Amino acid sequence: MVSRVIPVEAFDLVIIGGTGDLARRKILPALYQRFNAGQIGKKSQIIGAARGEMTSEAYRAFAEEAIREFLDKSDVKVRALKSFLKLLSYVTLDAKGETGWEELAGKMHSDRIRAIYFSVGPSLFGDLAKRLHKHGMAGEGTRLVVEKPFGRDLASAKELNQMLARHFDESQIYRIDHYLGKETVQNLMAVRFGNMLFEPLWNSQYVDHIQITVAESVGVGTRGGYYDRSGAMRDMVQNHLMQLLCLIAMEPPAKFDPDAVRDEKLKVIRALDPVEPDNIVRGQYEGDGERPGYRNQVESRDSTTETFVALKAHISNWRWAGTPFYLRTGKRLKDRASEIAIIFKDAPHSIFEEDGQRHNNILTIRLQPNEGIELGVTIKEPGPGGMRLVDVPLDMSFAEVLGPDEADFPDAYERLIMDVIRGNQTLFMRGDEVEAAWAWTDPIIAEWDGSGQAPEPYAPGSSGPESAMFLMHRDGRRWREIKP
Ligand code: NAP
Repeated sequence: MVSRVIPVEAFDLVIIGGTGDLARRKILPALYQRFNAGQIGKKSQIIGAARGEMTSEAYRAFAEEAIREFLDKSDVKVRALKSFLKLLSYVTLDAKGETGWEELAGKMHSDRIRAIYFSVGPSLFGDLAKRLHKHGMAGEGTRLVVEKPFGRDLASAKELNQMLARHFDESQIYRIDHYLGKETVQNLMAVRFGNMLFEPLWNSQYVDHIQITVAESVGVGTRGGYYDRSGAMRDMVQNHLMQLLCLIAMEPPAKFDPDAVRDEKLKVIRALDPVEPDNIVRGQYEGDGERPGYRNQVESRDSTTETFVALKAHISNWRWAGTPFYLRTGKRLKDRASEIAIIFKDAPHSIFEEDGQRHNNILTIRLQPNEGIELGVTIKEPGPGGMRLVDVPLDMSFAEVLGPDEADFPDAYERLIMDVIRGNQTLFMRGDEVEAAWAWTDPIIAEWDGSGQAPEPYAPGSSGPESAMFLMHRDGRRWREIKP
């Protein structure tokens, strides 16, 4: 199969914070990849902007270095890279002052899509929105791309939404959650709503429970300063895990259209019950001989910030009443692995007396590594010796089914940036969704802050704190093994 790349019209893209870590690691390599794939043409322009003094020539060298560092050697084609770099220029610009705004405005084309990527901290969003408006860059063709974290609680998220709304319409705002740009996440929607097979079983009558795991093997590294003010609940659960839960739990939208999908996701968040304290576990990783513990990586030696969260959530609606959603995420765990597992109920009656085992179908959506979907089915163990049953996977690993080229799908940032240019907001969070997610998260964090209790320590390279295991065991269930 040969994938089709549909070129987009020439556009202007400004990366505010164009010299930062995110620009280097994700945005510039993603743009180069789309150029190399033929999706971005030679007339588009990409402008890096930040306070630091830099010539456009130096910015091109900066971008080249980033692309070479963060992409596979095989992806970097000398001629394509040279042509790509010609799209780039740099403006010295201060979000909080007047420097650079006139120059930036002068470079923009009024008859094109103008995407302004806010790759800076949220404390600058208000200033940026105001100055874009003041300098005539807030018109209809402008789209803002906004990075996480979108606030640290409901009040700050509302404030950010209001600041943006003063100068921009919601249809111009693209709040990124890169989990939604993953191929498998979109495939989840295709599997659910494109097949007759799954949707009739997608409810509490047939689904025993759902597990969503986002496990990282690394610690906080050099991001300790940011992380210690955030923690796993704000950094992962409120956004990424919540978005995955929404896609699993939402009702079929009437059509695959941004607002229809986002309306359904919002209904899920609003139907979430508050989480009781005994349905949530938070942990913090310790050190071992080789690796430092969390408290040695952040300023505060008695930090109570959680690096792990496991919780049981309930959705109070007709579809899901009685089916728990278990969510877990953490750093410095056994392996890096993210998956969603839908565990179906046991068959109501076993006709195979000899077997005596429990078998249930499990649909697993693997997000990383090795994106793919797997359905566990029960069959007869081959050979003589009676009717013994065995569970085997029906594997829809993209690489095997579609061939390596098809499975070599774009990175989430590539897809999402192209969606901004095409004006498709389906995979971006709407302001009311973000606020509803904070409204659910805030009481959990408030309870922790109020209790003053430290998170439960866990060993590096483990599956998290003991209590997280208990959260499952007391319900007669167990977490799936974290394996890559
Ligand atoms: P960073 O490495 O600290 O870079 C910040 C960038 O913003 C620099 O280019 C900086 O350059 C520029 N900047 C700072 N103040 C400015 C001002 N007043 N006016 C104009 N430019 C200014 O940060 P980052 O890691 O790239 O992160 C950027 C945003 O993305 C943050 O909100 C972060 O939470 C979010 N994010 C980052 C990652 C990641 O992997 N890095 C992942 C997800 C989300 P000057 O100092 O020269 O101005």
